[in-house]
Amino acid sequence: MADRDGKIWMDGQMVDWRDAKIHVLTHTLHYGCGAFEGVRAYNTVNGTAIFRLQEHTERLFNSAKILRMQIPFTKEQVNQAQLDVVRENKLESCYLRPLTWIGSQKLGVSPRGNQIHLMVAAWPWGAYLGEEGMKRGIRVKTSSYTRHHVNITMTQAKAVSNYTNSILANMEALDDGYDEALLLDSSGFVSEGAGENIFVIKGGVIYTPDLSAGALNGITRNTVLHIAKDLGIEVVQKRITRDEVYISDEAFFTGTAAEVTPIRELDRIEIGAGSRGPITEKVQSAFFDIVNGRNPKYAHWLSKV
Ligand code: PMP
Repeated sequence: MADRDGKIWMDGQMVDWRDAKIHVLTHTLHYGCGAFEGVRAYNTVNGTAIFRLQEHTERLFNSAKILRMQIPFTKEQVNQAQLDVVRENKLESCYLRPLTWIGSQKLGVSPRGNQIHLMVAAWPWGAYLGEEGMKRGIRVKTSSYTRHHVNITMTQAKAVSNYTNSILANMEALDDGYDEALLLDSSGFVSEGAGENIFVIKGGVIYTPDLSAGALNGITRNTVLHIAKDLGIEVVQKRITRDEVYISDEAFFTGTAAEVTPIRELDRIEIGAGSRGPITEKVQSAFFDIVNGRNPKYAHWLSKV
């Protein structure tokens, strides 16, 4: 990743990709207090555009607020930085990674007195869970790791440190031959994937865990809530058990990276017919219409680069 051509926006400047470096005594590198976003730009029918840019920037600022970090830029500057990075790197469609971190002035646990930094990088990134997974569905394992409790790490912050939990769960699932992990909350109810929100469908109704199960408030999750409303499909946010997932008709993950990825198996138990279900396919297709600029109702979610 570090060795490629292009530019990265770093603290207000466009820096050559290979020169976008930080010191080994960076506070965030040692203690994990930092926040990031995952954003996508699509090559829409009206040219390249960033999907739900404002919402991602808003969540980045909220994550920083939760972590008591003061980002030294305005939201407008951070929006502009993302647009500039896509344009500067001549990307038609890409994944963007804004990240805010605590600097290297001092290294006690207390970060006070350290500079807060921000960077935005972007690069091409295809289907996160594989092209085949998008059509056939993926195989998921209930993790032996529990999702963060809402009062241990802050689950509404997209905090750097939260991802050790996701990495452990993802590695365990992959080592066991699955595509992704499903994490349960500390009471045993379904929370979310390692980097995705989950939806299940039963009897024509879509269910998703309410946020008290510790899942991140996903922007794709929110997009799917709009899509379901447009399709006239009822959505219920409630506590969900893992066996409700086993006996659901369909299931899918959502995320900026994962987009809308069908789930065909949980713990080697086939979900429904064991392939992408019809409602999932409708939601997926509506999602790609929106992000690719084919649905005028949501044109305001696309910021032209
Ligand atoms: N949960 C976690 C833990 C994630 O990392 C992500 C990806 N950002 C999501 C859910 C989905 O969020 P979004 O749709 O905003 O990308």
